[in-house]
Amino acid sequence: MVNIRQTLKSFILIDIIRGMGVTLRYMFKRKVTLQYPLEKSAISPRMRGEHALRRYANGEERCIACKLCEAVCPAQAISIDADVRIDGSRRTTRYDIDMTKCIYCGLCQEACPVDAIVEGPNVEFATETHEELFYNKNRLLDNGAQWESLLAENIKLSNNRIV
Ligand code: SF4
Ligand code: SF4
Repeated sequence: MVNIRQTLKSFILIDIIRGMGVTLRYMFKRKVTLQYPLEKSAISPRMRGEHALRRYANGEERCIACKLCEAVCPAQAISIDADVRIDGSRRTTRYDIDMTKCIYCGLCQEACPVDAIVEGPNVEFATETHEELFYNKNRLLDNGAQWESLLAENIKLSNNRIV
């Protein structure tokens, strides 16, 4: 009995007709794929992309070299050296992130008491060499300068969100 039904199904190509039906149905639906990189989707304000170090509006570095981000990083991707300035403030002399170790968990950003280290909206930082993914302090501060308005807006949105 089973064999007769299967033979009949194969004979009238029922599965192929069903498949064509699915194809036809989706042909006229709204397309969900994007022609990346020509088309891009919206990025969430909580996106954990490329890292940046932020400054205050007066140009002073936010980071106070407390090293909480370095301690919390599960991948041990952050390396910080610090020193005390003449005015008694503490600042980093070295702030490196090995982006090849980073797992984009966002814990460094969460741990930072002054919103200095953040993961920004930039996800397009693929490179061709390993060395280009060893970020130093200047590179991170440059990222901060480039993305500051968006970073500040995203932090404001995240702080106001209902959890
Ligand atoms: S995102 Fe996570 S893994 Fe990457 S540097 Fe920050 S704490 Fe470390
Ligand atoms: S980035 Fe934030 S958590 Fe890390 S050392 Fe600087 S102030 Fe501390």
